Amino acid sequence: MKKKNTALVSFSDIINEVNRRRLFCDDKEGSLFKYIRKNFNKSDSETSRRILAAKTLRLVPNADKALAKKQVTLTNLAEVSSLVDGIKSNKKKNEILSSIVGKTQTQTRELVEKLTGKKRATRPQTRSHSDGSLRIHLTLVGQTAKDYQFIKEQLSNKGLYSTEDIIGHAITGTAAIIRKKTASLGSRKSKPITNSRTISAAIKKAVITRSGNKCENCGSKYNLHFDHITPHSMGGASTIGNLRHLCSNCNARAAIVALSQQKMDLYINQS
Ligand SMILES: [Zn+2]
Repeated sequence: MKKKNTALVSFSDIINEVNRRRLFCDDKEGSLFKYIRKNFNKSDSETSRRILAAKTLRLVPNADKALAKKQVTLTNLAEVSSLVDGIKSNKKKNEILSSIVGKTQTQTRELVEKLTGKKRATRPQTRSHSDGSLRIHLTLVGQTAKDYQFIKEQLSNKGLYSTEDIIGHAITGTAAIIRKKTASLGSRKSKPITNSRTISAAIKKAVITRSGNKCENCGSKYNLHFDHITPHSMGGASTIGNLRHLCSNCNARAAIVALSQQKMDLYINQS
């Protein structure tokens, strides 16, 4: 039985290592979630739980020992991942770990709600359909539920907005904010790696034409960068032949291969 939990710790190490080295880019999968789900044949919910638990194991010094000794479960570690993410002090993180020892998932969730002051909705049930649509069964709580009611009262009565429209606006707005944020983060971080300032506008245009404005490794359309195949720091020129259009993850992965992990750890934010 103990052997089984040691395996869980090892699997989390694999997840963290795949993320640190951006290995999911080699598989042209483009995301850690897709990579783990496909390569380890896990369900969506199991994949999420593993990734969140792996994050807690990376952030909390004593979490691996507690999991190996079966004092905590993967589910509990996943539940506290967002909580420990915002805490710098290792002592405080270990205190949170101690407080979830022997607790059920519900008790752990209640503790997180108490510590954050936020009531969390039950996890939405999501089902994908073959036509690309998603059916989501979700529960809104607290202020979110009140805000939803407010919007609905204001607009639905006039026949202006359906539930899908209200949720759709929120999703589109949130996606735009995230894209803007990650794009600015990505461009800031890529500068020391790619020296993109040395690429002329004409060459950029030629690379974009070739790539179709997509990552030339995984096909992603977001957070694109110009990557020197032979790095600029190693004498690689800013020519069309030595440049490719890559998303931020594939760009980071390429730099890890070329420049060594150590150097890249200084640039890559491990979230
Ligand atoms: Zn990519």
